[in-house]
Amino acid sequence: MPPTPKARIIIIGGSMAGLFAATALRNLGYDARIYERAGEALANRGAGIATHDELYAAVRAAGMELRDEMGVRSKGRIMFERDGSVIGRHDMPQVMTSWGLIYRFLRAQLEDAQYHGNRALRAIETRGDEVIAVFEDGTRVAGDWLLGADGTRSTVRALVAPQVPAEYCGYFGWRGLIDEARVPAEVLAEFDERMALCMAPGGHWLGYLVAGPGDALAPGRRWYNWGWYRTADEARLRDHLTDARGHHHENGIPHDLIREELIEAMRAEARAWLAPQVQSVIAATPRPFLQGMYDFCAPRFVHGRVVLIGDAAATARPHCGMGVSKAAEDASSFAAALDAGQLGSWETARVAYARSVVEWSRDLGSYIGPQPEDPLHRAKAERHMRPDVLMAATAAARPQRFLEEVAARLA
Ligand SMILES: Cc1cc2nc3c(=O)[nH]c(=O)nc-3n(C[C@H](O)[C@H](O)[C@H](O)COP(=O)(O)OP(=O)(O)OC[C@H]3O[C@@H](n4cnc5c(N)ncnc54)[C@H](O)[C@@H]3O)c2cc1C
Repeated sequence: MPPTPKARIIIIGGSMAGLFAATALRNLGYDARIYERAGEALANRGAGIATHDELYAAVRAAGMELRDEMGVRSKGRIMFERDGSVIGRHDMPQVMTSWGLIYRFLRAQLEDAQYHGNRALRAIETRGDEVIAVFEDGTRVAGDWLLGADGTRSTVRALVAPQVPAEYCGYFGWRGLIDEARVPAEVLAEFDERMALCMAPGGHWLGYLVAGPGDALAPGRRWYNWGWYRTADEARLRDHLTDARGHHHENGIPHDLIREELIEAMRAEARAWLAPQVQSVIAATPRPFLQGMYDFCAPRFVHGRVVLIGDAAATARPHCGMGVSKAAEDASSFAAALDAGQLGSWETARVAYARSVVEWSRDLGSYIGPQPEDPLHRAKAERHMRPDVLMAATAAARPQRFLEEVAARLA
């Protein structure tokens, strides 16, 4: 007879946080099951994931070794002036792995009986020590604990902590993911196997190579992944999320519904402000897409028998590149704390860590979006738009130093 599980854990959300949690809890003898809104395998959402010490450690704790061949090697950073000349280089050897590669590894660790797709959470009920998840399709599942691993716009958080909404940062990102063969060969050569950056009024552009279809790493078969941050007030964001029929897609507009005139306007801005090399990448992107930037940090992660982890608990802006490692550490440390009966100290430590990550990502994005007049903000913004700082701090390979600085400031 199989051993009796220690407790039943309902996990809402089957992306990074949910998968890391299910793996860690199962390894400790819990009956952990995922309920995910999407019906199919999840798409490559973050596309490129810059690796760093914290990510290696978190992924190792889940039983996976992130080897160099699990991504594209980058020598560091290179930044271009608007006229195409090189402003500077910063050496920072790093592997650019992919969101999909980590997702597929984690998903393969779980039995199908542990992962239920097409199950969108609608409500949570409690009955004594039991927590019951109620899904949109009317089904109900009872458990001892419920984990909210359902991302920035978490339904779980809306139910247990409605006073903590995700906040719009005052900018969105245009993004592109294209076959590297579309990028002119001489431009790829100039990028010198580095993350390329270029400053423009209202936000910088950055791009780098990532694994291609089927996790291909061979030159010529990879993808080029880019993003361009654009300052925009709420009205402008709303306009960009509205399709040609006037329908507003608040939670993200499908790529093929973005209005052509907006893409054309972005391309025109690119011609006015970005280096010719960068313009050629944007011109080679048939369907750029866009994403609003949101952040927040919930003051509490534990709400009775309901616990928030990953982006549902705190979402940092992407500049720090720490969303996946934070989700993984939330998940594995939660499993260990539950087992040890130490959820109180777990919550204190994780909230403090999340605040540092969110605050650091705000520092990095401080020159984008609305600019408060106070001298402190102005000094911070001026510092973080300096080429040397932008190149060294964006998705840094050794984030510890930056996090410690921020933690000391917040303490
Ligand atoms: C542009 C961009 C670039 C990024 N780059 C990086 C990077 O380089 N490095 C890095 O570490 N991170 C990066 N990130 C962040 C990273 O992708 C996230 O932090 C990470 O995916 C968070 O994982 P999660 O599981 O907490 O949430 P999510 O990945 O958002 O997953 C939440 C899941 O919950 C499901 N769900 C939602 N509501 C319900 C419901 N009601 N019922 C059931 N299921 C539900 C969703 O379908 C989804 O699958 C980037 C993010 C963006 C936007």
